[in-house]
Amino acid sequence: MRDELDRLAMRFLLAVSLILLCCFAYQTMRHQAAVVELEVSLEARAEATAEVAALEAELAILEARLAVLEVEVARLEVLEASIRARVPGWLPGPQSDARGPTARIASVGQPSVVLPAAAGVGLEARLEDLVAVVDLLPTSWPIPGGRVTSGYGLRQDPMGGPDEVWHGGIDIAARRGTPVQAAGPGRVVYAGWLKAYGNTVIIDHGRGVQSLYGHLDKCRVQSGAWVTRGQGIGSVGSTGRSTGPHLHFEIRIGQESANPWDWLQGVP
Ligand SMILES: [Zn+2]
Repeated sequence: MRDELDRLAMRFLLAVSLILLCCFAYQTMRHQAAVVELEVSLEARAEATAEVAALEAELAILEARLAVLEVEVARLEVLEASIRARVPGWLPGPQSDARGPTARIASVGQPSVVLPAAAGVGLEARLEDLVAVVDLLPTSWPIPGGRVTSGYGLRQDPMGGPDEVWHGGIDIAARRGTPVQAAGPGRVVYAGWLKAYGNTVIIDHGRGVQSLYGHLDKCRVQSGAWVTRGQGIGSVGSTGRSTGPHLHFEIRIGQESANPWDWLQGVP
């Protein structure tokens, strides 16, 4: 009887142990599953954090690009306004920009610049086009480092006459023989003696824009020659109606003279 009871107790204990073992195993499995889940979620969070960091970096780049573009837009507007002010009709208007196929800048046989229609054209392309137009204009000082001794407009007659006389250009004093450079690219349409101007070179830059270099000691180009910006075209002298060695520099648009100060960039 006692043996029977012992056996029963043993079985009971064995059963309880088995149940406890099962419970423990189940709990362990649950914990392991939770740990795996946590690990996965941590990994996902790390990935998300990296993604956010990447997006933030991208945003910073975009913001920097936007700032650059804003500067470019401002530059474009200034450039466009300055070209329109200098040569009315050189650039197509905003409306013809949008509707017209292309606006071609004919440049007396020179390779011409094509301005594509504004629609769909990127800002950088438009800027490049404007810069290409500016590259054709006479905007460089013909004697870098020269000294302007007489401005554009009415002035006392330098030859001692009683009346004020119109001065259609500016005078830049320099030693006789100082090289004179083309203010912009173009074709020489005159090189030789021209009345009061003495030895003179006239360069056509296209669209009726010309630059004139007077009182030269010598012309170093011939009529019909193509010249580049900064190319030597003659040397300073005092030929024609002149009181001493200097360069008389003029900008002409059609038949009218224009103030060179509005054209030349920077200081002499
Ligand atoms: Zn002059």
